[in-house]
Amino acid sequence: MIKLQKNLLKWYQTHGRHDLPWRNTDNIYHIYLSEIMLQQTQVGRVRDEYYPQFLEQFPTLEALCNAPLDNVLAAWSGLGYYSRARNLHKSAQIVQNNLPKTEEELLKLPGIGQYTASAICCFGHHQNIPVVDTNIARVIKRFFALDNPSTLGMWKVAAEFVNAKEPRSHNLAMMDLGSMICLPKNPKCEECPLRKECQGILEPQLYTQTKKKEYESLDLFYGILIQNNQIALTPACGNMYKNMLELPEVEPIEKDFIARYKHSYTKYRLNVNLYTIEETSSEIVWVDLSRLELAPISSLVKKAKKFINETLIQFADYKVGDIFVE
Ligand code: SF4
Repeated sequence: MIKLQKNLLKWYQTHGRHDLPWRNTDNIYHIYLSEIMLQQTQVGRVRDEYYPQFLEQFPTLEALCNAPLDNVLAAWSGLGYYSRARNLHKSAQIVQNNLPKTEEELLKLPGIGQYTASAICCFGHHQNIPVVDTNIARVIKRFFALDNPSTLGMWKVAAEFVNAKEPRSHNLAMMDLGSMICLPKNPKCEECPLRKECQGILEPQLYTQTKKKEYESLDLFYGILIQNNQIALTPACGNMYKNMLELPEVEPIEKDFIARYKHSYTKYRLNVNLYTIEETSSEIVWVDLSRLELAPISSLVKKAKKFINETLIQFADYKVGDIFVE
């Protein structure tokens, strides 16, 4: 076991992703933020765009706690899964300036599950505990040839494998091994530092279950109403984009159709249809077109911006039904 742990760390020193900013800090808030952002967003987008921008705007937990929710949602705009931003803000208000140091206490905060609590404790406080995300789970299942292990069983095995002297590097190494070498399809076993002892090396696919996601298709109909360089938005109702602004809904009409595009949101596949309208009965918030970026709008509305611009330019001789986007 000790030899394996050493091989893993050696591999990590050479091949690990040491450039990720949240791996080069002990600032608990920064680590917490990165873990929340990374929950449903690719590493590159978090590292290059959202993480630095968000920290520039809210450099401390205190700054986040004191910020209006609208500003937090606007900074989150484009990242999707807005409940993450709402929970982050709510947690900041609960803990004020100090995030708890134990998994038990962290688990009481909104939006923090077992993985995130362990990641904060291990990566931030160097605690000797396992961290199991989907990448690590795949390595563990294959390496120990675990057939359909329970979540608890998997965490138990991971706990026995953690390098007690360097738990942070060990868990980060496992994470990188899963995302770079022990890939869901075609794992690169010949490059793996664990290959000599891997019990699943002959048939790694046997231990990787890929559950097919089920999606629900929804048709949405929105109106674009522009007056004096301002666009009419309306507070979103329902849980989908709670606390955000969206375009006013309209009846599916044939007249003044502009465009149709697809958008994904959690389990939904949305077919968004846009129309120009001259009035609406919805509650209206007028937003300056030049300040649209700063408003708390969802990525669904962001995607509509292309058509909003085209509507502005071409409204006079716009040809109905011109644009279809996949
Ligand atoms: S040897 Fe192959 S299957 Fe086993 S842990 Fe390494 S990459 Fe995964």
